[in-house]
Amino acid sequence: MQIIKRRKVFFLSLLLFSVLCLLSSYSYYLLITNRSPYILKLVTGTVDFLMKGQSISNYNINLNISPEKGVINVESNINVKFLKDRRYIIFLLNDGLKVNSIKYGKAVSHYRIWLINLLLLPEKIKKDDDLSINIKYEGNLRPLGFSDGYIKEKEFILRNEDIWYPLDFQGLFTLNVNGRVPVSITPALPGSIINKLTGDGKGKRFSWRPERPVTGFALMGGYFNKLAKSVNGITYTLYSPVYHNEDLEKTIDNIILCHSFFKGQFGDDGFKNLTIIITPHGYRSYNHGAGIITLSKTDFPTIAHEIAHNWWGGTVYVDLLRRKGDGGQWIAEGFAEFSSLMAIEKLHGKDAFLRELKNENFNPHEQRIIESITTFDNLMDGEDVKINNQMVYAKGAYVLIMLREIMGEEKFMKAMKNFFSEYNYKIVNSNDFQWIVERIMGNSFSWYFDPWIRGTERLDFEITDLNSIERGGTFVTTAKVVNKSKINIYAEIDVMAITENGKEIQRVFMDENPATVVFNTKSKIKEIIADPFLKWADMERENNFVRH
Ligand SMILES: [Zn+2]
Repeated sequence: MQIIKRRKVFFLSLLLFSVLCLLSSYSYYLLITNRSPYILKLVTGTVDFLMKGQSISNYNINLNISPEKGVINVESNINVKFLKDRRYIIFLLNDGLKVNSIKYGKAVSHYRIWLINLLLLPEKIKKDDDLSINIKYEGNLRPLGFSDGYIKEKEFILRNEDIWYPLDFQGLFTLNVNGRVPVSITPALPGSIINKLTGDGKGKRFSWRPERPVTGFALMGGYFNKLAKSVNGITYTLYSPVYHNEDLEKTIDNIILCHSFFKGQFGDDGFKNLTIIITPHGYRSYNHGAGIITLSKTDFPTIAHEIAHNWWGGTVYVDLLRRKGDGGQWIAEGFAEFSSLMAIEKLHGKDAFLRELKNENFNPHEQRIIESITTFDNLMDGEDVKINNQMVYAKGAYVLIMLREIMGEEKFMKAMKNFFSEYNYKIVNSNDFQWIVERIMGNSFSWYFDPWIRGTERLDFEITDLNSIERGGTFVTTAKVVNKSKINIYAEIDVMAITENGKEIQRVFMDENPATVVFNTKSKIKEIIADPFLKWADMERENNFVRH
C-alpha cells in the first residue's frame, strides 16, 4: 500500500515537472522566435510602463547600410529628458542587433534581456534634467511581430520599430539622419538630401533633417522611378521601384489632392516636404509622421487614409506601445479612416461615399471595446486582428460619422479642427476628444461615447406598422421607426419612401421610441427604408425595409 502511494506521488511529481518543463520551453520557444504576440505585447507594454519617466527630445542617427550583406551599422546620439528622478534609462532594440558601445561621459552598466536594454547610470538624474548618450550597434534585422522592414540586396526599408523602437514611441522628437549606402542605391528621403560620394567612391552619403518634430521614421533605399511636384510651397516626391508598374502622375495628383484637402479641413500639418514610396510587396501601408509615407496599394481610399495620419497619429500623437488602450488606436486609425471617407464624399461625391461606406462593415456578433484596442492588438498577426481591425477602422470611422449627424456638420468640423489645433504635438486619449465635443455642444456626451467606444452596444432600426389610406387623390402613409438598441439616438434619422413616381425623404427625430413617420404622396408608396444613406451603424439592415 505504502509503496503504491509513494509511487503515485513520485509519478505525479514527475508528470507535473515535465508539464512545467514543456510549458517553460514552449514559452521560451515563442519568446526567441517572436512568434507570440502576447509575449511581445507583454514585454513592450511593461517597458512602456517603465519608460514613462523618460522622453527622448532629440535623436541623431548615423547609419551605414550594406544591403548586399543585409547588415546595418548604427551610431546614435540620444537626448533624454527625465520626467521623474531616476537612475536608469530603458530602451528596446531589435534582438538581431548587437550593442558595441555606450558612452555617457561616465561609466554606465548595460544589461540586456531579449529586446529590453537597461542602462544603469552612476548617479540619480533629477526631474527635468537632460542627458546625452551615444550608442553604437550593428547586425542583421530580425523580423519582429508587426514590422515588415527588411534589408535586401537591392532594396531596404527601415522603420523605427525595425531597429530601435526609438524612444520608443514616447512622444515627438527632433530627428537628424545621416547615412551611407552603396553608390548604386538611391535613398528615398524628403528634403535636403546630399548625395555625396564617399572617399573610396563605393558609397554615397545622405543626410536628412525633418523640418518639424516627428513621431517616428521610415528610411528606404533602392532602385526607383521618381516624380516630384511642388504645389502651394510643398514639395511632393513619389518613388516607385523600377520593377513595379505605377501611374506616377495619377498617384501623385491624388496625393496632392488629399493633402491639400485635409489641410483645408483640419489645419496645417507643418510638412513642407512629403515623400511617398510605393512598396508593392509590403503588406501594409505606413505613415510614421515624419513626412515619409509608404504605400503598399495606391487606390484613392488608401492614399487618403495614410495622408490623414499626418494629422491623426502623426501630429495629434497617440501612445503606441501601451498595453492597455485609452482610445489611442481609435484616434489614429478611426480618425484616419473617417478622414478618408470624408475626402471621398467631398471630392468624389455622395454616391462614391456610399459605395465606400458599404465596405465599412463590422461583424455584429463580434463586438469589442474600441477604447481598449492597442497598436499591438491591431498590428499583430492572427485571427483576432481581423476583428480588432474592423473595430478600430470601420466602427471607429462610424463613431465619427454618427457624431457628425448628431452635432451637425459645422459644429463637428469645429470639433475636429479644435482637437487638432489644441492637441498638436501632444499625446491624446479619447477623453480629450470627448471634452472638445462637450465644450462645443455645451453638455455631457457620455451618453454617446460610453456605449460606442467604451461599450459594445449595437444599433438596430426597424420599420413596422405600415399603413396607407387614400384621401382625395393623396396617399397618407404612416409607419413606425423603432430603435431596437439600448443606445438612445438624440438625432434625426432619414426615412425614405419609394413611390411609383420617385422618392421622398422625411427626417424623423428619434426622441420618442418608436417614432412615427407620415408621408403624403400623390402616388402609392412601394417601399419605406430607414436610414437609406447608411449614416448610422445599423447592425441588422434587413428590417429597415418594408414593402407594400
Ligand atoms: Zn492607418
